Amino acid sequence: MSAAARPSAGGASSPGEDVAQRQEGSSENIADDALAGLLPALVRLRHDLHAHPELGFAEHRTAAVVAAELRAIGLAVHEGIGGTGVVGVLRRGSSGASVGLRADMDALPMDECSGVAYASTHAGAHHGCGHDGHTSMLLGAARLLAARDFDGTVNFIFQPAEEGLGGARAMVEDGLFERFPCDAVYALHNWPALPLGTAQTRPGPIMAAADRFDIVIRGRGGHAAQPHTTPDAILAAGHLVSQLHAIVSRRIDPVESAVLSITRIESGHTHNVLPAEVKLTGTVRSFDPAAQDTIEAALHQIADGVALASGTTIAIDYLRYYPATINHAAEAQVALEAAANAGLQVKTAPAPAFTSEDFAFMLQARPGAYLWLGQGRGGDDKPLHHPAYDFNDAALPHGVRWLVAVAERQLQRR
Ligand SMILES: [Zn+2]
Ligand SMILES: [Zn+2]
Repeated sequence: MSAAARPSAGGASSPGEDVAQRQEGSSENIADDALAGLLPALVRLRHDLHAHPELGFAEHRTAAVVAAELRAIGLAVHEGIGGTGVVGVLRRGSSGASVGLRADMDALPMDECSGVAYASTHAGAHHGCGHDGHTSMLLGAARLLAARDFDGTVNFIFQPAEEGLGGARAMVEDGLFERFPCDAVYALHNWPALPLGTAQTRPGPIMAAADRFDIVIRGRGGHAAQPHTTPDAILAAGHLVSQLHAIVSRRIDPVESAVLSITRIESGHTHNVLPAEVKLTGTVRSFDPAAQDTIEAALHQIADGVALASGTTIAIDYLRYYPATINHAAEAQVALEAAANAGLQVKTAPAPAFTSEDFAFMLQARPGAYLWLGQGRGGDDKPLHHPAYDFNDAALPHGVRWLVAVAERQLQRR
């Protein structure tokens, strides 16, 4: 989940909620013995990755660990895709069916204060989003699938830089799906707001588009006791803040969802100077590109109006950095069925989350789906991106089972 995203329980059920169980298939066939034998090594691997977190596009050690593990399993390994991305290819039989499974490898630029024995040894880097768990689970799935009988090709995709830097886009632009064809692509994210042993996803939007705006309001600056001599950039900022907050409530259809938040405002030094400049930063989250267009246009329109009324100039830099993550309907169903098959309590997510995810770029290129994997222990679960957050190792077998199940279900669809 993106660094610019706020932790959210959006769309998640509470631990006490009755989650419908759909045991449509047996989890017995997902190599229980093999998984049990694998788990201690997977936990050690997860802790090693946690202790050595690396930021986006600098996952050199992590990528080397991943590549070595994939080679040890006997897969064909391809490194340096979209920067530090790694792909392992496992081919069986002759059907031509193919599937991609994605994990993210990067950590967050923040210090850790979890107190665990395997805490980060790198200042300013913390696996605060559980990508250490995602990477470990996908390596576990590779090991299990390599020992199983299926017909087709499984591409294990380890991407860099999910946290705001677009590592998935970098891999797609580097020819990921041309070099490693995938009929469909799947990914999961651990979800602390959902209880351990549960999973959710939904057809259509699952995570929001994320935009960033930076605004500079310029007056001229002058004496605070002579406000008539300069356009007041601070007063203009006040009007702008209140009017921008009316965009979602007055310009967007009430049945559509969107968020506009102003997160930083900077200006001034002392009590008797009117500053020449005010800087504002904020984010917009949405699911429908038409709503996104409306918000961006309204932002410019309102800024022009405030500038005219206040005598200031207002410059806006608006960046759409992650699109909405949109699950394809058929593949979302495959993901839910695979979760039931993996022994999880499954529910269609009632609503998407307003956080964002760069797996969106892969879903723009190929059909697929993104699953929320419950890892809540109940009680004092730390949210994603919290300095004391730690991935719950008890979720490792759930994720491995789902990855194996979804790959096999997808390959059987051909
Ligand atoms: Zn994440
Ligand atoms: Zn994240």
